[in-house]
Amino acid sequence: MDDKKRGPKLHTKILSGLFIGAALGIIANTQLGGKHPLVEWTNHYVAGPAGQIFLRLLFMIVMPLVFASIALGVAGLGDLRRVGRVGGRAIGYFLVTTFLAAATGLVFVNVLKPGSGLAQEVKAGLMETYAGDASAKIGLSRAEGFGIGTFVNIVTRNPVKSAADGDMLGVIFFGLMFGAALTLIPAAKARPMTDLLESLNCAVIAIVGMAMKLAPLGVCALIFGVTSRFGFALLRPLGGYVLVVLGALLFHAAVNMSLVLRLAVGLAPSLFFSRVRSALVTAFSTSSSSATLPAAMNAAEEGLGVPPHIAGFVLPLGSTMCMNGTSIFEGITVIFLCQVFGIDLTLGQMGVVIVMAVITAVGAAGVPGGSIPLLVGILAMFGVPGEGIAIVLGVDRVLDMSRTTVNVFGDISAAAYVARAEGLWNASMVPGRAVRAAPGLAATQA
Ligand code: ASP
Repeated sequence: MDDKKRGPKLHTKILSGLFIGAALGIIANTQLGGKHPLVEWTNHYVAGPAGQIFLRLLFMIVMPLVFASIALGVAGLGDLRRVGRVGGRAIGYFLVTTFLAAATGLVFVNVLKPGSGLAQEVKAGLMETYAGDASAKIGLSRAEGFGIGTFVNIVTRNPVKSAADGDMLGVIFFGLMFGAALTLIPAAKARPMTDLLESLNCAVIAIVGMAMKLAPLGVCALIFGVTSRFGFALLRPLGGYVLVVLGALLFHAAVNMSLVLRLAVGLAPSLFFSRVRSALVTAFSTSSSSATLPAAMNAAEEGLGVPPHIAGFVLPLGSTMCMNGTSIFEGITVIFLCQVFGIDLTLGQMGVVIVMAVITAVGAAGVPGGSIPLLVGILAMFGVPGEGIAIVLGVDRVLDMSRTTVNVFGDISAAAYVARAEGLWNASMVPGRAVRAAPGLAATQA
């Protein structure tokens, strides 16, 4: 965005914000303590409001962005068979990468067994400290139970209410229907509406630009809020578990996804990473795939040159359905808690864990802690008491930041994959290294 201007590039500023916020937060936490009045004051009056304003700016534009980009994406694809093919490719990619992620997590947790060494008194202490939080999550899990109703609810009764409630799938569904309808009515009647949607989309993207200018400050504030209050003491007893989750996330991004990028997307992982890092830092600091959607669209379209009607169609779907990092986290956490509670799982049950991790990752909302209520539901299937979630809640924020980053990595790679599979984009069209741009694309990138 303002990358072209003089001075440090936006992504460098965002990354600096991340490091400065993290460093200040860690210093405050270790020198003063998370509950020190000065730290609490700073969080209440400075970092909290600044972080919230940034987050709210992102959330403010998510729903109009999703509606306009999905409707335009579908209308832009033209005929409904093509929409089905693009959707099928996207969902296929989501499922394959999510499955790969869950399987990787299971290998890590079974080989390293972080749960078998957890001392009895640590387990009891954690369950006592986080009992209140855990019962709130169990309540949510009952309310949000995953089942046939989840699918029926996608067909929204009231798209305005869905948008107001942050029900992304409802808005996506309405956008799909609306876009499809635009392809079915006479072109002369559809044109004014597509023009209006184009304008809405452009205006929303301009707001994204403004919000992203605040990103260095917002990211710094959000990270300060987390690190200054984080219970670093918890990292010791749960260190093994945290390292296994982080190790599996890193392995998935650096090995599995690098291979997928090379083989299926035809892109060097380092180039991909360098073009999307602002979005990854936004994901890390917000812990929300939905809040990161505007930054992810920006990265895919401007950073990688993916055509807007493909990015606008695949990314909103991905931000709620493609959660590689979440499936790693869910699989590992289920097995970890089984290890802690001394429950041995058969190979068949491990297979069920993978399948459930994939299904719930698809169903989880792209908000901070969105997967926890679904995770509580899986735990019950294997005889782990729902309250057991209390053991990991204290370290969840740091894991949430990391898994959301991997989720967004997967989303953007999906957009590039689908664009390539559709023959609309390839690595040579990445802006800044374009060797030859297709004439149709040059216009969309202008
Ligand atoms: N925070 C994650 C996301 O937005 C969801 C989760 O795993 O809790 O992608």
